[in-house]
Amino acid sequence: MNPSILDYTQEELEKLFPPKFRAKQIYNWVYQHHIDDFIQMENLPKKLRSEIAENYRLSPLTIVRKEQSSDGSIKYLFQLEDGHTVESVLLKMKDEEYDESGELLHHAKYTVCVSSQVGCKVGCTFCLTAKGGFVRNLTAGEIVGQVLEIKKENNIASNRRVNIVYMGMGEPLDNLDNLAKAIKIFSNENGLSISPKRQTVSTSGISTKIKKLGQMELGVQLAISLHAVDDELREKLIPMNRAYNIASIIEAVKEFPVNTRKRVMFEYLVIKDVNDDVNSAKRLIKLLEGIKAKVNLIYFNPYPGTSYERPTEQSMRRFQEYLLQRGVLCTIRESKGIDISAACGQLREQEMTT
Ligand code: SAH
Ligand code: SF4
Repeated sequence: MNPSILDYTQEELEKLFPPKFRAKQIYNWVYQHHIDDFIQMENLPKKLRSEIAENYRLSPLTIVRKEQSSDGSIKYLFQLEDGHTVESVLLKMKDEEYDESGELLHHAKYTVCVSSQVGCKVGCTFCLTAKGGFVRNLTAGEIVGQVLEIKKENNIASNRRVNIVYMGMGEPLDNLDNLAKAIKIFSNENGLSISPKRQTVSTSGISTKIKKLGQMELGVQLAISLHAVDDELREKLIPMNRAYNIASIIEAVKEFPVNTRKRVMFEYLVIKDVNDDVNSAKRLIKLLEGIKAKVNLIYFNPYPGTSYERPTEQSMRRFQEYLLQRGVLCTIRESKGIDISAACGQLREQEMTT
């Protein structure tokens, strides 16, 4: 199987196809002109175009299914070359807005939620992705390809920048090398030009890898899937907590280089009668002391076979109010895509069972 061109940084392409400026041209065609055939790279010699076409593939994945939600978000199921599937979600955060004269005030804002692995090793008891076990890491090209294909499919102009959240299937820090490479390819200004500031890595809390990611100085944003304020409960939800407990995560976060204008996001999956009590909110504030944090409360999204339940709106509001009144920033994640099998892993599950 030929390798995908999306797996290469510009520097790598420079070595493969000298002189240097060729790599920039290729990046331009692939990521900004959205070509679907290498032959379209008009300013490259014909011979080189054919050579590339013979030895490389453009995209390492294809869209096999999509589900549109009433709120405008679209969930995609991608098939990889070896037949495995992963999900991504396109979220429209803001619509275009026009003034009375029809003048465009601002463009729509998009965020793409990408997967980093087929399956996951972490084994969280509330997560559908975990149920299928771990299959393999995605390559950098397979991570990058999700965003490129979604932009193409939706005719999102190449200069319309999008945000990226690594919150799809898999644990990104368990695939650190390919993640770091994808972050670099995404941020290349001749390519998709998505600055690391607009890329958020979400992790279940592998403390040693959070430190490593920080030391790489990539400039990405960090989101921690905390979900519990004491180790006993967190172990039940995230078994890996035995190896990387809450204290070790907090310590790693404190060392993480955060952009001065940004905050570390703490995701808190709220499960009815498990972690939705005010006492947990109180302990959460204590844990976050000294960290420039923002809490994001997420409704647990039930699926067949789980014994966990969705919390009530009232308990979500109570939890949020408790934090807000004590000066901790806290949002409730909108039920984006709630009618399209919301959390990642759930579209894939349907595909496998239908
Ligand atoms: N592995 C990484 C990133 C992928 S999971 C991590 O755990 O952070 C992304 C998010 O999906 C996590 O915050 C997780 O809590 C959430 N999630 C998993 N299962 C869910 C469910 N059934 N309902 C709602 N959110 C869920
Ligand atoms: Fe893996 Fe994240 Fe799901 Fe946990 S929540 S099993 S870390 S994908």
